[in-house]
Amino acid sequence: MVGTIIENSLENQMLIVMKLNAARSDVDRVKRTIENLGWVPHEIPGQLRLAIGITGNSGKVDAETFLNLPGVVDAIPVSKPFKLVSRDVKPENTVVSVGAEAIGGNRLAVIAGPCSVESRDQILDIAVTLKELGVTFLRGGAYKPRTSPYSFQGLKEKALEYLKEARTATGLKIVTEVKDTETLPMAADCADVLQIGARNMHNYSLLEAVGDLRKPVLLKRSFAATIEELLMSAEYILNGGNYDVILCERGIRTFEPATRNTLDLNALPIIKKLSHLPIIVDPSHGIGVWDAVMPMSLAAIAAGADGLIIEVHPDPASALSDGYQSLKPSKFRTLLDKLDQIAAVMGRTFREIPHPVDAA
Ligand code: PEP
Ligand code: MN
Repeated sequence: MVGTIIENSLENQMLIVMKLNAARSDVDRVKRTIENLGWVPHEIPGQLRLAIGITGNSGKVDAETFLNLPGVVDAIPVSKPFKLVSRDVKPENTVVSVGAEAIGGNRLAVIAGPCSVESRDQILDIAVTLKELGVTFLRGGAYKPRTSPYSFQGLKEKALEYLKEARTATGLKIVTEVKDTETLPMAADCADVLQIGARNMHNYSLLEAVGDLRKPVLLKRSFAATIEELLMSAEYILNGGNYDVILCERGIRTFEPATRNTLDLNALPIIKKLSHLPIIVDPSHGIGVWDAVMPMSLAAIAAGADGLIIEVHPDPASALSDGYQSLKPSKFRTLLDKLDQIAAVMGRTFREIPHPVDAA
C-alpha cells in the first residue's frame, strides 16, 4: 500500500522540456495548458533549454497532453520527491544575485560577523574591519532563537537599525535571521539575504511566507534533518515562486560529544549532484570551537562549497552568544589568507585583490 502511494506520487511529477529557442508563444501555450488544468507552471530557464515544472497537481500528469503541443521536445517524469530544486529540472548551477554580489557562481561568498548584534559600536566596528579584509556579506542576529529562554534573545528591531547603519557605512550586504512570521516584515525590510535558522527548517508557515517574497533566502539544515528533508524545505520556498535559495550545511547531531555538532561535509557532493541550488557551509556551528573553524572552513571549500558563513567577534570572551566558536578578527584574517590559496586550487575566485599571506 505504502509502495503504491510512493509510486503514484512519483508518476505525478513531470517536467516539460521546450525545444532550443522555442517561440515565446509556444512557451505561453504550455503554461496556459497547465493553468487550465488547475496547476501551477514554473518556468525554469537554462543555458541549453527552457523547462517548465508543474506543481499543484494531485493526479497523474499525462505526457501526451504536452508532447503534442508545438515547441515541446520532451515530457520527462521527475524521479525525486522534490521537483523545483532538482538538477533533473535545471542542470545548470543556480547563481543567486544579491545586488552586485552573487552566491553560487565561480566566486566564493564569505559571510562573516558576530552571532548576535550586541550594540551599535560592536556591529559598526566589526563591519569596517570585515570590509577592509575583503568580505562582502555581514552577518548578525537580531532575533535569536535560543535553546534557553534565559539566554540573550537579541536586540530585535534595534539590531536591525544598527545593521542598516552598518550597510550604509560599508556597503556590505546584510544577512540576518528571521525567527517567525510575526517579525518577518521587519527582518525582510533590513536583510539583503534572509536567514532561516536550523530550528526553523521545518517551520512550514515560515517557509511559505518567505516563498512569497522576492528576496534571497539562506536556508540552514536542521541538526536533525536528512539531506532530502533539507531539499524538501527548500522546495517549499521555490514552490512559492522564490527561486533565490542558498542552502547551508551547519552540522548535524551525532553520538560524538567532543564537538558541538558533526559538520556533514558528505552532504556537499551529494547535494551538488541532486540540486542546482548553491550551498555554503557554517563551520562555526558545525564544530563549535573556534580553533577548529579554520581547518573545517578550508575542508568545506575543498569539498565544493560555494562559500562560508563564519562567526567573527571583536572580543569573543565577552560575546553574548556563541563566543567560544567565534574568531577574533586577527585569526579570521589568517583564515582568509589561506582561503585565497584553497580557492585558487579549486579554480574559484575569492577576494578581488588577494591579500598577502600574513607572515606573523
Ligand atoms: C546562527 O547562525 O547564529 C544560528 C543560530 O545558527 P543555526 O540556526 O544554524 O543554529
Ligand atoms: Mn550563533
